[in-house]
Amino acid sequence: MADIVIIGGSIMGSSIAYHLAMAGKAGDVCVIEPDPSYEFAAAPRSSGGVRMMHGLAENIEMSKFGQEFYKDFANLVDVGGQPGRFDFLEYGYLHLLAGTQEVADAEANCALQKSLGAPNEMIDRDEVKRRFPSMRVDDIDAALHGPKDGFIDPHAAVLGFRRKARELGVEYVQDRVVDIEANATKVERVVLDSGKKIDAEIVVNVAGAWGPEISEMVGMKMPVEPLSRSTFYVETRAELETMPLTKDPSHVSFRQEGAGYTVGLTDVDVPGGFDWEVRHHLFDEIMWPAVAHRVPKFESLKVMRSWSGHYAYNRMDGNTIIGPWIGGLENFYVATGFSGAGLQKGPAIGRAMKELLLDGGYQTIDLSRLSYQRVIDDEPLLERGFSA
Ligand SMILES: Cc1cc2nc3c(=O)[nH]c(=O)nc-3n(C[C@H](O)[C@H](O)[C@H](O)COP(=O)(O)OP(=O)(O)OC[C@H]3O[C@@H](n4cnc5c(N)ncnc54)[C@H](O)[C@@H]3O)c2cc1C
Repeated sequence: MADIVIIGGSIMGSSIAYHLAMAGKAGDVCVIEPDPSYEFAAAPRSSGGVRMMHGLAENIEMSKFGQEFYKDFANLVDVGGQPGRFDFLEYGYLHLLAGTQEVADAEANCALQKSLGAPNEMIDRDEVKRRFPSMRVDDIDAALHGPKDGFIDPHAAVLGFRRKARELGVEYVQDRVVDIEANATKVERVVLDSGKKIDAEIVVNVAGAWGPEISEMVGMKMPVEPLSRSTFYVETRAELETMPLTKDPSHVSFRQEGAGYTVGLTDVDVPGGFDWEVRHHLFDEIMWPAVAHRVPKFESLKVMRSWSGHYAYNRMDGNTIIGPWIGGLENFYVATGFSGAGLQKGPAIGRAMKELLLDGGYQTIDLSRLSYQRVIDDEPLLERGFSA
């Protein structure tokens, strides 16, 4: 028996567990996570980017809190009085823009970001060249620059939350939820692969790309599906200035990673479903030409390794769904649909779920617009300019 059973113990599950534990509820929380190494979870396979560059106030505010939290992470999750090392690499974010509509969207987003405290700015092509001399700029019209954005080690973030939650007394059960038993109004218990059953007052589904199959167990439909992403780690001998995490108009993105760079593609107009094959043809046909065009010194880059991971992609509007299953089982909660921006929202989602479960409603950032109600009403909450 546990008061609160959390399904999935990666960044979301462990941040929720941490925030509940910090509020004194550790003994009432049980996290079910099959893989303590998080080999297949999205979080460690992500780019680790944390940006205030969004088009919805809720997303900007969640990432702002994420930025503050991760900048102080080593202290916040300190175990046994020994804060470890945790770096927030403040290399910035740069969204390169081509086209009148793209520039107009970015200008509107930038104004909103500034009003919420982000030091972001629109810069023209010459200024991009001045700040990042290795970049080719003749085919862009402007850029949105977030100088205080950056990236973190996502695996270390998951482990930091997990270690601290466990130290505070949260129980992690290494097992997999295979079924959920419910009566007409409430979930009663989760059934694990081992055959064990755990009774629960509240169940929270934060199983990422596996979340839809968990929700299906109780008949809840979510417009969310796994979306396979291929990432390539490359190295070049060429000397370059410090690069921000750059999003190119081609939807290719790249950022520094140790001695090299990671390169990814944020196209979402592709079929969903789990697919662990790395799509090497995307690198050869789209990513390499795009980065070599943008940064000519990348012409000589070499692929050192590659991997695949999955967004929990919200096909309806690319945005988060958080809260109880409105219209369904009253004690079944979800936090899903994070698409390509969940890691930075991890701290805020953990705090928000704690507020919903313990405080009777949001106390800090009001995430009501991100509830399941918009799925019922079929009213997408679209974000200008950023798709994933
Ligand atoms: C290539 C890529 C790049 C990305 N880049 C960024 C970025 O730069 N910035 C950013 O903010 N976000 C980024 N993201 C998104 C981010 O990684 C996710 O939004 C975030 O990790 C979601 O966290 P989660 O805890 O919901 O899911 P996950 O990290 O996927 O964890 C889900 C967990 O559920 C567990 N689970 C699965 N099935 C069961 C079951 N039956 N029972 C119990 N547990 C189960 C899994 O083992 C796993 O540990 C990126 C994602 C990808 C794929």
